Amino acid sequence: MENHGNAKERDHGAGVKALVEKLGREQDLSDEEFLALLRLPDAEALFAAAREARDRVYGRRVFIRGLIEFTNFCKNDCLYCGIRRSNQRAQRYRLTKEEILECCKEGYDLGFRTFVLQGGEDPYFTDDRMADIVAAIRALFPDCAITLSIGERSRESYERLFAAGANRYLLRHETADPAHYARLHPPEISLENRLRCLRDLKDIGFQTGAGFMVGSPGQTDECLLRDFRFLQQLRPQMVGIGPFLPHRDTPFRDEAPGSEEKTLRCLAIVRLLLPRVLLPATTALGTLDGDGREKGMNAGCNVIMPNLSPRSVRKKYLLYDNKRADGDEAAEGLAALRARMNAAGYEIVVDRGDFPAEEEGGIPHEP
Ligand code: SAM
Repeated sequence: MENHGNAKERDHGAGVKALVEKLGREQDLSDEEFLALLRLPDAEALFAAAREARDRVYGRRVFIRGLIEFTNFCKNDCLYCGIRRSNQRAQRYRLTKEEILECCKEGYDLGFRTFVLQGGEDPYFTDDRMADIVAAIRALFPDCAITLSIGERSRESYERLFAAGANRYLLRHETADPAHYARLHPPEISLENRLRCLRDLKDIGFQTGAGFMVGSPGQTDECLLRDFRFLQQLRPQMVGIGPFLPHRDTPFRDEAPGSEEKTLRCLAIVRLLLPRVLLPATTALGTLDGDGREKGMNAGCNVIMPNLSPRSVRKKYLLYDNKRADGDEAAEGLAALRARMNAAGYEIVVDRGDFPAEEEGGIPHEP
């Protein structure tokens, strides 16, 4: 006769399967069901469903984005971030337009067809300067996507950058819970303005990325639930999710890092909520665990963003302690990254990797 323990496990397994199937089918769950998924003793069924959902749209193709961290000056003072303005110990740098173009050229030769220009909110990079840089990249690399990640700006500024040739914009919302937002940011930065930015970006026509850290101080599962609800509403084309990692020169220096397992669950849930979403296995995940990116792929990710910044500045863009920017996190380590991805059953492709249009029913791929 079957023992009691086995029967309980089987019933639990059936319950999880039903939940995951419902999420895949309806792209929605009740609040209690979302919370149950975050708290599952074993999330393998969730990860398997996320992989299947990703495979249906993208197959096993992994898109790469060349990340150019072009300035670490920042006028903001986010409590979690190593390049916050009150960190006197950060060694500040800015790349010139020529240096940025050089990074793009190097990246293009390596097979990158998307360049991500990310930086602190550096007032030096006015609309005139940014538009000039974007236009130069657009002229030199007409077949590439240009992604910006330079924080909160006015609608007019976003419009100019779009007109200059930028296609995509990454601006994590960080948390959709106003009280939690206030715990992570100084009072002059508001969730309201961040959401205004995200809506403007989408409205202007940018492929837009939102996202959040997992395990940031004060975050509860209920905060994550609000993040899922917010993403359902905004329907961004990209979502960046990585663990919070402390930085020694910030007020959060003694806080615990975010959990890898919970990060993977959030990634898998978001893949099922928004099946066509472009979902990176982030550097923070790769920093927390040497196999973090493979685990991200196994939870439904389909994007990796190796570092294309000049080697001389990589160590200075330190958002959190021990941030990885070497080995196969680096653009020049692409051969090693390819090999690792192949070994895990994925294929890195030379492709802009745009968000697939609805009517196309996804990007065609080999079965
Ligand atoms: N300034 C732009 C912005 O705010 O969107 C782009 C740069 S900002 C440093 C990029 C992202 O880094 C943030 O959205 C945040 O989620 C992440 N980040 C900052 N500090 C972090 C930390 N301590 N741990 C994990 N991620 C962090």
